Amino acid sequence: MPRCRLRLAKNMNHIALSGSTDFDGWRAAARRLLANGVPPEQIEWTTGDEAPGLFANDHDALSGRAPFDERSAFRVPAAFVDLCRLVILHSDHDRFALLYRLLWRLRDQRDLLKVTVDPDVARAESMSKAVRHDIHKMRAFVRFREVAGVDGGPVYVAWFEPQHHIVEANASFFARRFTNRRWSILTPERSVHWDRDGKQLEFAPGAARSDAPDGDQLEDLWRTYYANIFNPARLKISAMQSEMPKKYWRNLPEAELIAPLIASARERTQQMIDEPPTIPPRRRMDVVAAGGAVKPDGELAAPDTLEGVRQAAVHCRQCPLWQPATQTVFGEGDEHARVMLVGEQAGDQEDLVGRPFVGPAGKLLDRALAEAGIDRAKLYVTNAVKHFKFESKGRRRIHQKPVDAEIAACYPWLAMERDLVKPSLIVALGATAARALTGRAIGIQANRGRLTELADGTKMMITVHPSYLLRVPEADHPREYAHFVSDLEKTLPFLQ
Ligand code: URA
Repeated sequence: MPRCRLRLAKNMNHIALSGSTDFDGWRAAARRLLANGVPPEQIEWTTGDEAPGLFANDHDALSGRAPFDERSAFRVPAAFVDLCRLVILHSDHDRFALLYRLLWRLRDQRDLLKVTVDPDVARAESMSKAVRHDIHKMRAFVRFREVAGVDGGPVYVAWFEPQHHIVEANASFFARRFTNRRWSILTPERSVHWDRDGKQLEFAPGAARSDAPDGDQLEDLWRTYYANIFNPARLKISAMQSEMPKKYWRNLPEAELIAPLIASARERTQQMIDEPPTIPPRRRMDVVAAGGAVKPDGELAAPDTLEGVRQAAVHCRQCPLWQPATQTVFGEGDEHARVMLVGEQAGDQEDLVGRPFVGPAGKLLDRALAEAGIDRAKLYVTNAVKHFKFESKGRRRIHQKPVDAEIAACYPWLAMERDLVKPSLIVALGATAARALTGRAIGIQANRGRLTELADGTKMMITVHPSYLLRVPEADHPREYAHFVSDLEKTLPFLQ
């Protein structure tokens, strides 16, 4: 036994990676090791400041040996690279050795990854699954708390305790979701800060739980939201706990509601059975058109500030459109605007940026508004549907028109925007907006430019959607564009 140890020690190679998630470093070293025929059992992998083992050579023991030759390298299956990228984020120290062992074996067994009962393959698969799970949990359970930044503006800070090294891999998700906020996510190992102005992610060392703020009004919103989406009739405690494992509860403001909600579930289910049926979406929209008095149907609480509603809308799951979309695109503009513009739905660019009307149709709208002498900053601009609906064609995302059920599912958000902004005039840009506001299909060309009244007394005017002007034949464009500008000019008296 000692003899064997000595022999091994002599040939041991120490590979020091720059950090826990140093995929590039691992790959470069693995290529060189493989090209030099170094077997897995003669390598010790360490990261960052970790000290190498007693028998490992001090530095890259490959120096002086055959340099890596790209041409002699065998091509690994793409699935292996994908697997490596995930497994490397796992917290198990043996992950680098495991991946190198797989790489070593792949040379002779090209289909190794298909052998799911192989212990190395099974272990790597289960590690990648755990990492994916952790990534998903972080997306679902990070809760931001608002604090004042050095300049007095709001900064949103969250504390999270991931199981694996996923902070960097997950950061761009949060950057896309919360592009226009300043935020930080603190974790014990790594912190990430979003520089909203420079549009950059900055990574820093880990933090302590006590560095993160404890509670604020966002927590109340979360609790209200959670209490309202909690459906006692669908209570499955084991499924719920596997989705939201207990270890995450202590950082979730809504977690303290879980026990009382479960306790009262039976009683609430009976109440739901006893209650008269709720108004179905289409009918609800008719009632809105007739009186504008229908509040959101109780599935979501109605916070009393636009910012509160915006925050709640971030998590909207009322129809399936949230799933492929990047983020909810909520309305923006003057919170006391006299005039509200309602478009159809977020487009491709809006989905990425998180703001309405910033893409080609938005640019055309801006130009037409300027020509009509209207300052966009004095308006409140929003959409009937707050998620981008699209069909993927290769790398392109092709816009799809929302159907009635989607318009109806999203209507409560528009109703809350209307309630809070209280515009005197609402301009419906195109058929979807007109349908959302009135609850019926309305011919645009036949009704455009006329002032009508919604039942709550708010004036409404319909005009074409700016994207219509992007599609009209070139010869018709000047006439159609001028018509659009003249429709918009009719809003001027409301803005005085
Ligand atoms: N089209 C819309 O209706 N809304 C947008 O925000 C962008 C394009």
